[in-house]
Amino acid sequence: MSELQAKRNQQNPPIVFLDADNTLWDTDKVFADAQLVLLSAVEKACDKKLERTDRLAFVRSIDQELASRHHLGLRYPPRLLIASLAMMLDGMSAKESARKAWAGNVGGVPALAETENANIQQRYFADLTSTPALLPGVQDGLSELKKNGATTIVLTEGKKERVVQTAKALGIVQFIDKYVEAKKDRRFFERMLRFAGSPRLAIMIGDQLTKDILPAARAGMKTIYIPGRFVPSWEEKERKVESGIRLTSFSDVPNTVRQLLSENRSDCDAKILRKAAQF
Ligand SMILES: [Mg+2]
Repeated sequence: MSELQAKRNQQNPPIVFLDADNTLWDTDKVFADAQLVLLSAVEKACDKKLERTDRLAFVRSIDQELASRHHLGLRYPPRLLIASLAMMLDGMSAKESARKAWAGNVGGVPALAETENANIQQRYFADLTSTPALLPGVQDGLSELKKNGATTIVLTEGKKERVVQTAKALGIVQFIDKYVEAKKDRRFFERMLRFAGSPRLAIMIGDQLTKDILPAARAGMKTIYIPGRFVPSWEEKERKVESGIRLTSFSDVPNTVRQLLSENRSDCDAKILRKAAQF
């Protein structure tokens, strides 16, 4: 990077908004591990063994079914998952068990006693507090972004304290300028842009099309989509209409930002030249 370019970046730095879970660190693995422990606990409590070998897919089929019915989405209460799994181990379909668990209609089903359900749920919550691993390329990618003068802001729909704590535990806190907790919709991204004072370049990086990429793009930001392993069923159809940049790893982020900066500069230069030609 030339000195002039570094100076330009300092004066009007690119702003990079970052999703946290499954963009910076592997939250999916923490969930997968906790869900597998939960399934084993339900099997033990019901004295039934799952015949299938795709244990995680089994848990996730009912997890998606419940999330799509609940107003909190994937943050529905896990006791519903535990009750549904008990019914599924007893031979009920995912749809039917989700419907029954959701309606609180588990009576008559040889499912679990309330206390057993509560114990399993407690262990599940404890497992979910494990520190996730940093995703490949994130440490170097963030360090490079800072060297290029970018302002970095982490956005979360969860608790800000948890995100700050994880960033500290993973040793990346020095690369992050700010943390914001909010529902990620188009109006929020528009507000962020106004708050940033119309930066020369604003980019949103995330793993979910519906929460990170589409609302940011609609607000006028550039977007970098890095799909995670876990794709919720409601994202499948959005994947077909995605736009913006798509990367497979965070390692490619600094190069992409540099490229966007130079495209942005050529755009600005072209505008200036067009204006100058009018005189
Ligand atoms: Mg995410």
